Amino acid sequence: MSHDQIDAVVNHATRNFEHTLAQLCAYLEIPAISCDPAHAGDVRLLAAKICTDLQALGMSACEVRELEGTLPIVTGEWMNAGPDAPTVLIYGHLDLQPVAGEIWHTPPHKATQVGERLYARGAADDMGGWMSHIAAIEAWLSVSGTLPVNIKLVIEGEEEIGSPNLERYMDAYPAQFSADVMVLTDCENPSVDIPGLTVSLRGLLEVELTVSALDADVHSGLWGGMVPDVSIALIKLIDRLTDEDGRMKVGRVDVDEAWRQSAWDSPITVDVIENGAHIIEGVAALPDRGIPPVEWMWRQPSITVVATTLPTPALKKNALRQKASAVLSIRLAPGQSSAEMLVLLKQVLLADPPGGIKVELGADGWAGEGWLYTPKGPAFEAADRAYQKAWGAPLARVGVGGSIPFVALFGRRFGNLPLILNGVMDPETTAHGPNESMHLGIFKKAIKANIYLYDELLTALKSKR
Ligand SMILES: [Zn+2]
Repeated sequence: MSHDQIDAVVNHATRNFEHTLAQLCAYLEIPAISCDPAHAGDVRLLAAKICTDLQALGMSACEVRELEGTLPIVTGEWMNAGPDAPTVLIYGHLDLQPVAGEIWHTPPHKATQVGERLYARGAADDMGGWMSHIAAIEAWLSVSGTLPVNIKLVIEGEEEIGSPNLERYMDAYPAQFSADVMVLTDCENPSVDIPGLTVSLRGLLEVELTVSALDADVHSGLWGGMVPDVSIALIKLIDRLTDEDGRMKVGRVDVDEAWRQSAWDSPITVDVIENGAHIIEGVAALPDRGIPPVEWMWRQPSITVVATTLPTPALKKNALRQKASAVLSIRLAPGQSSAEMLVLLKQVLLADPPGGIKVELGADGWAGEGWLYTPKGPAFEAADRAYQKAWGAPLARVGVGGSIPFVALFGRRFGNLPLILNGVMDPETTAHGPNESMHLGIFKKAIKANIYLYDELLTALKSKR
């Protein structure tokens, strides 16, 4: 497309921004919370609304598809660029995390603009993500009646519960997932000025550590001093897994030295971490110990105690307890398998039990593998050019410390295709927490970047076909 034509498309998107925002705000009013069966109707309602809007936009094959026992996905496509143009699959999700128990400064399901940010559950995770594509598609079709590439859109309704049925949809509708390049929009930017391309995820292994010593709780005044306290034993065992800073010390991996050096330049600095993670005044982030902070968060295993059965204040009594357990959530380094971590955990936790107590390690909980990706080839060069134009910066290669099941799934099924993972979140978004927000400057740049991206992908990939 000519420069003038693309400029006209970008200008249309700018002029139309209030309309785009209004459309997004209407979606955000529907509490499509996928983990709560009481909101299943809302997930379906939102899916139907999006589907209607895609139809109005001029997309074809717009459907709400629902396999038995699942929440729906919305699909739509625009294939008029023809067989010689590449096909881009765009993935996003419409479902939301719950808000119960959170303290919000604005109503979670009524989008509210404060300064440059739009506050609402789902604003950035993930409605702003796929909405930035709908706005880009709308701009192209309004101005030129055409798009540079073919587009297939898939908007999932179960991402926030771990995409348990996405692979079933892939199997049931393979044509819907067949494409030359995939843009997965549910990730984060390192700052409001630097766009991010996600290239690694950590895996997750959940284990339950149980210690037992007695048949019944007994009087601590009678027996204390000669009888093991399971609470202390549990704490001592957990301590075996961590270093002086409280970091996981088991299963650490070697990372590429060149990557490590570049990681010192990440915009995710200690300041960003202390601010983004709401660390209180007088407390600091963990010391780096000569390792870049983002390596600790993206490329090394970490441990969190997510539940325990230690005595609570309400159950306080002067007694030695029978048993205690803790659920440990272990983030795995990208490429590290949960099986290999489990072996290491058993070696450390089951040897020489403190006080001779009985130790058991169960691994029936969540397990998901990480993902490490090397973006290369013309599609990524195209993406860098598009982002350079829209943001004034190419995509910074970033990792995610969490585990996003759909990414691992796409990686496994479509790892031979270019997978462009980006989104509209930034370190202040607080996705999954109270006062989730999207920076409107990011949203505008995301729309622009998508407009350029479709054109750049045509230039980059048409010669390959
Ligand atoms: Zn998400």
